[in-house]
Amino acid sequence: MQTLDLSDPQTRLIVLTGAGTSAESGIPTYRAMNGLWRTHSIQEVATAYGFLNDPALGWRFYSERRVDALAASPNAGHVALADIEERLGDRFLLVTQNIDGLHQRAGSRRVIELHGNLLHSRCTVCDRPPFADDRLYQELPLPLCEVCTDRAAPGMIRPAVVWFGEAIQGADMARVEKFMESAPRGHLVFLAAGTSGVVTPASAFVEDAKRLAAATWLVNLEPPENVGYFQNVLLGASGAIFPALFGVTPG
Ligand SMILES: [Zn+2]
Repeated sequence: MQTLDLSDPQTRLIVLTGAGTSAESGIPTYRAMNGLWRTHSIQEVATAYGFLNDPALGWRFYSERRVDALAASPNAGHVALADIEERLGDRFLLVTQNIDGLHQRAGSRRVIELHGNLLHSRCTVCDRPPFADDRLYQELPLPLCEVCTDRAAPGMIRPAVVWFGEAIQGADMARVEKFMESAPRGHLVFLAAGTSGVVTPASAFVEDAKRLAAATWLVNLEPPENVGYFQNVLLGASGAIFPALFGVTPG
């Protein structure tokens, strides 16, 4: 089994995780969802337009996602990432496309959630900061924002996730860039897991990493669509591969 050499105190590790990492904890990917959601399109439940058009449907969908997230537990891959962060400190950054909060529950602290957090909510109108919210809104009336009630049209409470057609926070992208650029040349390791790595923003990150002469790794169940896109490819579950790859003891 291969092990990443992270012993040089100048080496920095950036890890990008995608849906595959959460699927190992039983979180269904959108494509794998059953029942009611098979009959609804992504435009209906995962865009701002869809939510404003039918917020009750949107909240039923996201309430179910909250139930799934709260019922799931971090897996060995999440735990190994928290362990390697413990060892590397500020030389480590975790970037995730997942919205379930499982990385934080495993103990990760240096986490950028590119697509927001399912267990937070925000307002559709005012700029109050997202707030922790694991409530289920499966029945009417739907929650209204209590901060902007003096407006002619007060906002509604919505999940603090980034929907299709919405932009990823510029500050998050800048933090990723800054972390990668601060690594001395030849001392950056970029690892993508549970994602094909070929769709933005993952593909943009790996391009940047390569420009910075980083070592690039992919851990995924399926082989990459672009052969040679990553220098090193390990096929398998992150929960099975990470503990040995990072040299951390499981459990
Ligand atoms: Zn508001």
